[in-house]
Amino acid sequence: MPEPYALLIEGGTIVDGSGERGFAAAVGVRDGRIELVYGPTDQIRAERRVDATERVVTPGFIDLHSHSGLMIFADPLHEPKVRQGVTTEVIGVDGLSYAPIPDPTDLEALAHINAGLDGRPDIAYDWSSVESYLDRLDGLRPSLNLAFMVGNSALRIGAMGWDEVVASADDLANMRAMLREAMEEGAIGVSSGLDYPPGAYASTEELAALTAEAARGGGFYHTHVRYDLGDRYLDPFREAIEIGRLGEGPAHITHFYHRQTFPDGPGPMLALVDDARADGQDVTFDTYPYEWASTRLLIMIPPWAQSGGPVQTKERLADAGVRDRIRREMAERGVLFAGRRAWDDVRIGAFTVPELIPWEGRTLGDVIADRGDDPVDVLCDLLLAEDLRVNQVTPGPWTETLRDFIRHPIGMIGTDSTFVGAKPSPRTYGSFPRVLGQFVREEALLSLEEAVRSMTSAPAARIGLDDRGLVRDGFVADLVVLDPERVRSNATYDEPRSYPDGIDRVVVGGTIVVEDGAHTGARPGRVLRRGG
Ligand SMILES: [Zn+2]
Repeated sequence: MPEPYALLIEGGTIVDGSGERGFAAAVGVRDGRIELVYGPTDQIRAERRVDATERVVTPGFIDLHSHSGLMIFADPLHEPKVRQGVTTEVIGVDGLSYAPIPDPTDLEALAHINAGLDGRPDIAYDWSSVESYLDRLDGLRPSLNLAFMVGNSALRIGAMGWDEVVASADDLANMRAMLREAMEEGAIGVSSGLDYPPGAYASTEELAALTAEAARGGGFYHTHVRYDLGDRYLDPFREAIEIGRLGEGPAHITHFYHRQTFPDGPGPMLALVDDARADGQDVTFDTYPYEWASTRLLIMIPPWAQSGGPVQTKERLADAGVRDRIRREMAERGVLFAGRRAWDDVRIGAFTVPELIPWEGRTLGDVIADRGDDPVDVLCDLLLAEDLRVNQVTPGPWTETLRDFIRHPIGMIGTDSTFVGAKPSPRTYGSFPRVLGQFVREEALLSLEEAVRSMTSAPAARIGLDDRGLVRDGFVADLVVLDPERVRSNATYDEPRSYPDGIDRVVVGGTIVVEDGAHTGARPGRVLRRGG
């Protein structure tokens, strides 16, 4: 007689992540791995039984874009994510990884300049290599699994500092060597965020060389594109695909979406991806299902003004001549300073200075109106007063075209979740449940099976996990038990820190992390190293 299962989830419908129709079976878990059990289960022994009658059992969701690389140290329970059913998330995105960074002063500076995006928890920043950083995360035992990308900003800082310069052949060789070592230590690829210096100073060719190195180690290129490039519509995405082609590696466009301000629709954007794939190139994308973007307020300051790192950036923000130049450039672009409305839509947060805390969750427009000062002066003054730390939430994906990306067969989910400020984008708490509740159940935009596939086996394949992302014999028991009639996001622009309904149970590596919709306090997560 076999040993009893540690866990048996019985009575439910399995939507196994393959995209195939759901079927009736029980899921037995032994040694953290799945065994499907067909037929009656009353004779099956288990230490723990979960009744999944009228529920759907799926693989755990995989989030291709998360900003938890520092904040998880302060909050390893990571409730906003596990309560959505996320069992693995990708960190080190947007070019902004916190390893490898050989010099502790540089690690300090990178955490400082990104505080409005990635937070700056009061922890010991006592790692430098990828191996030491991943060991720290493993030692933490977070509630979910993490997969790590090497950011190209980290590589640039290590090889050539913070300046706006062209990489020499030696610089390139150094960056490739650092990346090679990082891949050997378990990274899954290289990321870029081409709005964020110093990674933003990288050329197409430099990024192609890094992509080639990542691909050699079995990884891929994950990119927040250069939104300012060329026509500011298709050219940024053309460059991403070109980088994959030149580097002969997979290219993944993160937070791929269409803005209302673009000169034409989403069709030509998606056609770029479809055409590249038809040509045999491995191009994929993720998107987040909310209309609200979020990042550090510093993103409003042009890259040239950030050359040299945080100290020089602050010197420039204090300089009246620099402020004039920023004002001129922004006026020429006609995007941000076109009128009151642009300011109205920039909600700011993550304040720590007592006089500024009342502005938490208000808009930049409110502050400008209150102060009666020039907008650029208000912006620079706020950044200086908060030591660059401010977060912003702004309009992102257009409501009318969001669905084109969600239902596209290549589309996956990257929440782009941030964990700073009282009112982050609702995507941090609601992304996966919104797709399942609104787009699957209410609108029938795509089937439950197809949505689950895009959240599980598709991203598992993208990041190279060969024993996760499916409910299949021998696979790791990362699982979600959800109520298809009740699942929904409760996170909104006004109340973003609201947990979803209908995600009843979440299991990570065979351990129950969410039970009856509440966190159990369990922390079974670990780092999923490439090849590990
Ligand atoms: Zn991001």
